[in-house]
Amino acid sequence: MDYPKLAELLFPDITTTPEDMEARYPKRDLPEGAMVTRMGPSPTGFIHLGNLYGALTDERLAHRSGGVAFLRIEDTDDKREVEGAVPMLIDALDYFGIRFDEGATADGETGSYGPYWQSERSAIYKTFVKKLVAEGKAYPCFMTEEEIAEIRAMQEANKINPGIYGQYAKCRDLSYEEVEAKLAAGEVPVMRLRSTGDPTKYFHVTDAIRGDISMPENEQDVVILKKTGLPTYHFAHVVDDHLMRTTHVVRGEEWIGSLPIHVELFQKLGWELPVYCHNTVLMKVDETTGTKRKLSKRKDPELGLGYYKELGYFPEAVREYLMTILNSDYEEWRMANPDLPLEEFPFEASKMSSSGTLFDLNKLNDISKDVLSKKSAEEIYEFELNWAKQYAPEKADLLEADPEKTKRIFDIDRGGEKPRKDLVYAQQIFQFISYFFDETFAPETDMPAECSAEDIREIFRRYKEGYSEADDNSAWFEKIRAITADLGYAVKPKDYKKNPDQYKGHVGHVSNCIRIALTGRSNSPDLWTIQQIMGKEQVFARLDKAEAALH
Ligand code: GLU
Repeated sequence: MDYPKLAELLFPDITTTPEDMEARYPKRDLPEGAMVTRMGPSPTGFIHLGNLYGALTDERLAHRSGGVAFLRIEDTDDKREVEGAVPMLIDALDYFGIRFDEGATADGETGSYGPYWQSERSAIYKTFVKKLVAEGKAYPCFMTEEEIAEIRAMQEANKINPGIYGQYAKCRDLSYEEVEAKLAAGEVPVMRLRSTGDPTKYFHVTDAIRGDISMPENEQDVVILKKTGLPTYHFAHVVDDHLMRTTHVVRGEEWIGSLPIHVELFQKLGWELPVYCHNTVLMKVDETTGTKRKLSKRKDPELGLGYYKELGYFPEAVREYLMTILNSDYEEWRMANPDLPLEEFPFEASKMSSSGTLFDLNKLNDISKDVLSKKSAEEIYEFELNWAKQYAPEKADLLEADPEKTKRIFDIDRGGEKPRKDLVYAQQIFQFISYFFDETFAPETDMPAECSAEDIREIFRRYKEGYSEADDNSAWFEKIRAITADLGYAVKPKDYKKNPDQYKGHVGHVSNCIRIALTGRSNSPDLWTIQQIMGKEQVFARLDKAEAALH
């Protein structure tokens, strides 16, 4: 068979050569050890934690080594494509602080290794398919879907390894004339690899996360170019990662099964293999069964990145959390370096988990509390306001009505040795401070059972009588103590605990009547501080409202 002639017959329009491509995409001029990584999402519209997990890995590996991270859109499967998915993806990753150095952008692309949309690289792929055909390493296949299905059914029935290979590859040895006749009859072929692998032999690859991977060689004549003229993932990935000079391919473990195909493709094309980094799927502990399972799009809203944005998680908190599940020694490092930016952590692929990473929302929330406890009131205010403008405009109005007051609210117990750690994410933060606004104030708990309605009225009456905004915290509390003693409650809780019959209750119950009237809750930050922010008028109005609600 005259393979070059066959290649010409199949690809008459392809005039570019592999050498042209090598020249067009030269080796990158980067320092020794610099890694080139890429994210290759398919634009399906669903952006999930796994994407962010992978993107952060790409970004950290590249930027820690002085390399390049780029974004390539893998849109060769138009059935799965969703309009607007790319800007959405870029926006979501950008929110979490992932910036690519080159590749697809919201409104085009940057970088000299493009196009970064695979659907626009058709001629590039064909150049290499043509080369493989010319060398007898690929061939046109005209088998119909029915024929392929029949073969598969037969193979399954006889417990034979399924697929198109060896004797099942019906078009492997078509003559030039047969191909020519089929083309003339209007048949459109796919292109298949002419595999020469031997599945009784094993190859070895060193995965940067998993170490040595040993698998049987590929024997499948996989499709490399579809009838649409676009490549399959296998071929596109190999050509692109070679030409775009990717050094490290970070991708999900679901691709390990196809590694034999990729290794053979790299060999057939005469190219060096990149370093593979197969990461793990994200798992969670199922609330009902208590066992570990994969995070699921259907069952777990927390898998989608939109979840974090809508609830208003601080991007930094999410990144910080992801780092703890990405690299095993991150937490230890963070403890030793509480104030360093996470960029300084020595991130390494070899420190990544290779068996199901456990995602734990509670842990994320704890980390978020830590991260937020170090933010200034001003930063919390800005973030909260931006979130509210997008997701809860009516709340934005409240936050903005008196910015100074709102900032004072956020400043409660901030700074100092032991800052409060009760802010987690924007929606929860608003809920946490909602009692400050009359519009959102809603009593959540009843008055303490120890205090009768009559006592509560008397507590409020005396409290208002003695109220002075000029009181400092201790003068203020002295007054509560006096009311406590006068009404037959214990000034010290432990006295009440020792002799419960001698008292109606203790100072905590009395002050909680006031706390509940003002905040609607039995737990709150320091009451005196809250009053200083509310001001006398609001404090009295709340007390009156609570009194009116007594039976
Ligand atoms: N397009 C592939 C996916 O979305 C990317 C795999 C890779 O990164 O190589 O799963």
